[in-house]
Amino acid sequence: MKKRALHYTGTINANRLNNAPLPSEKELKKEGRGHMSSVYETTNNLSLVRWLDNKCVTLISSYLGTEPVDNVKRYDKSLKKHIEVARPAIVKEYNAKMGGVDLLDMMSTLYKRLMKSRRWYMYIFFHMLTVSLVNSWFLYKRSCKSLGTKPMTMEIFQSQVAECLKKAGKPARGRPSSASPPVRKKTVVVPLPVQDVRYDKIDHLPDVVGTRGRCRLCPKGYSQIRCSKCGVYLCIVTGKETRNCFTAFHKL
Ligand SMILES: [Zn+2]
Ligand SMILES: [Zn+2]
Repeated sequence: MKKRALHYTGTINANRLNNAPLPSEKELKKEGRGHMSSVYETTNNLSLVRWLDNKCVTLISSYLGTEPVDNVKRYDKSLKKHIEVARPAIVKEYNAKMGGVDLLDMMSTLYKRLMKSRRWYMYIFFHMLTVSLVNSWFLYKRSCKSLGTKPMTMEIFQSQVAECLKKAGKPARGRPSSASPPVRKKTVVVPLPVQDVRYDKIDHLPDVVGTRGRCRLCPKGYSQIRCSKCGVYLCIVTGKETRNCFTAFHKL
């Protein structure tokens, strides 16, 4: 990273310290909360800081150490009141910048696709999908906030994205069902297509089907015309009461 002129601050696992002379958690606990200790590696200019908050944390950085130390408020369980705890600069910086990555990791773990595969690269592929999905949900939530609308939950968002990817920008498959004889069956209410599909202006063709259904746009219309992509009945009426729900339905 240094070769690429990138600086770094992050937590480091205790087993990767290469025997750096840092006090143990036990020793820090004797000194009390807020106590810190640091060592420097001078060849690559790295600093290691161990700090005792309610637990012990070890951080590494290529540009930051303990200074300047500031104070943070913490609740002390044994004293039952708030106390001031000294905090090294490296922790302050880490907390300020880690938010996004940490949140993404958390969400990715929560919404990880549950699957088992013997092909290791599938895990990478699905991880990339999950990460893009989680990130796009965050972006979506941001625009909801600026629009003042209530965002949908991650689950619904996820299924809508899936629905779009299945249909959006792709021609509808299959032939019109007018070729096969009409079958009487229970009325199934076709759910409205997701917005991105409904208005994508790709391959919404009027199929003339043998069955009749209630128009999804106007309250009184019945129609034998169904959108090949959305799968909903829409009426086109000529004559005295000219009406074109088919076109209207697909316009924003
Ligand atoms: Zn209609
Ligand atoms: Zn359509």
